[in-house]
Amino acid sequence: MTDQIQRFLFDDFEIRGEIAQAHQAFQQCIDNHDYPAEVANTIGELLIATSLLTATLKFEGKITVQIQGDGPLSMAVINANQDLEVRGTARWKGDTTGLSFLELIGKGNLMITITPENGERYQGIVALEKATLAACLEDYFVQSEQLATKISLFADSQSSPKQAAGLLIQTLPASSENHEEDFAHVCALASTIKAEEIYTLKNDELLFRLYHQEQVRLFETQPISFKCGCSKERCLSSLASLDPTEIKEILEEQESIEMRCEYCATTYSFKEQDLQILFTATDQKH
Ligand SMILES: [Zn+2]
Repeated sequence: MTDQIQRFLFDDFEIRGEIAQAHQAFQQCIDNHDYPAEVANTIGELLIATSLLTATLKFEGKITVQIQGDGPLSMAVINANQDLEVRGTARWKGDTTGLSFLELIGKGNLMITITPENGERYQGIVALEKATLAACLEDYFVQSEQLATKISLFADSQSSPKQAAGLLIQTLPASSENHEEDFAHVCALASTIKAEEIYTLKNDELLFRLYHQEQVRLFETQPISFKCGCSKERCLSSLASLDPTEIKEILEEQESIEMRCEYCATTYSFKEQDLQILFTATDQKH
């Protein structure tokens, strides 16, 4: 199954939806990290949540969806752009075995930052107070967009291959008298979805299973892919912001400076000759 998101509309209701699967991108996000299952699954859910949000909010630019808390999982973040190129990372400490979402996060927030290519940066924050990430995101939509939304998120970091998927149901600006009933009906059926179904079924089969009495129109799919923007050049420019004397001191003690990308775990190694440019640039300043 390919990593993708697909929108759909109900012909007879003022309701829209999206289905996302990102098994490979999830695998790539957690590859080469020793995340415990609970942390990895949260990254998987956050990855799907970010993909659903990106497709909903329609912008050209970058989006960052970040969880911060005072629990064992202090930070988890997914970066994405309008082409649904995603990457993610997390910081945790201690034993997370068997912890629920709220036990993992403690007291915390969900932060959504959109940096459009043109226009002003937008930041939305919602307190993480519900039992699941999906429910917290539903709060976000009600608070910041005034849109009733139902979200289901699934991630399994222990299966082989790893699996992550999700479903979003959202109200459109509605005029129908029965809209509330229609929305409740569509959400009630959405909540019967099982992880196995969304992981493995084709979207049309899945929607037929859920909504065989309704007319549902599926739109074209959009791919989701893992992409980390790190490079040796970017590492070098972050080294350039340090005091060159400090760098020289480190190089006197060890042969090279290693920098590991916290997203994709690529390690970049710099020897003295690679860093000469930093020292020369400083010398010229004096
Ligand atoms: Zn990287």
